[in-house]
Amino acid sequence: MAEGDSIRRLAARLNASLGGRDVVAAQFWRGGFEGGRLLTVAAAGKHLLMRFSGGQTVHSHLRMQGSWRIHRPGWRPGPATDRIRAWFDFGPAGVLAAHAMPVLQLLPTAREDLAVGHLGPDILAEQWPRQRPAAATAVAADPGRRIREALLDQRNVCGIGNLWAVEGLFVAGVWPHTPAGAVDADRVLELIGRMMRLGLRNGSQSTTGDLRRGRTHWVYGRYRRPCRRCATPVAFVPAGPGPYDRETWWCPFCQPDPSPPV
Ligand SMILES: [Zn+2]
Repeated sequence: MAEGDSIRRLAARLNASLGGRDVVAAQFWRGGFEGGRLLTVAAAGKHLLMRFSGGQTVHSHLRMQGSWRIHRPGWRPGPATDRIRAWFDFGPAGVLAAHAMPVLQLLPTAREDLAVGHLGPDILAEQWPRQRPAAATAVAADPGRRIREALLDQRNVCGIGNLWAVEGLFVAGVWPHTPAGAVDADRVLELIGRMMRLGLRNGSQSTTGDLRRGRTHWVYGRYRRPCRRCATPVAFVPAGPGPYDRETWWCPFCQPDPSPPV
């Protein structure tokens, strides 16, 4: 899943294979790519920034469906390869292509803020421990908003995707629909940050610490199956119309509704 940790892993992989190499041919769906050397690939939350020596940045966001793939040297998209909006030929290192990329644009590197300036502190950035209190304040700033949505709003904190929000709230014992103002947001952010760093180090999105198939998550994707802690059937709500109202799973016993019974 294209969450902050997987984008960071992708950036590291692209830096290792293509960083410092020259583009010998390229095609960009809107034109305007001036070529040059790939200086560095950076992750900003769930956004990917590829910076070139000519002062241009290729900005992309994978959402659910996009991917960057490195093809063999000399590769070109054929008539059957659809939805390639850009490719960059790095000679012997292969051809990097954007497959089904929903967000793909060129920016002056000096104006990357146009793409990522709205983002809150990055949960996987080095300076995160210093920025966490500000992110916690932002998460709780709209006290009536559900915590699961406040955590996914990338303006508050960037890099958390639905998987880490759902699993983090389980580990924190917080009902995902709790109003953000009633949650210790700093504690939840500290916990999710630790879980994501561990995942990044292990190269895995397992939240249980178990890497075996079918055992990697506490509640995510486990509707009606027994909670791994207490055996209560896992609850689920589908995604709603709001941009951050994503599908959600939780354990009704381990993550109880905090409001007093009427
Ligand atoms: Zn449970």
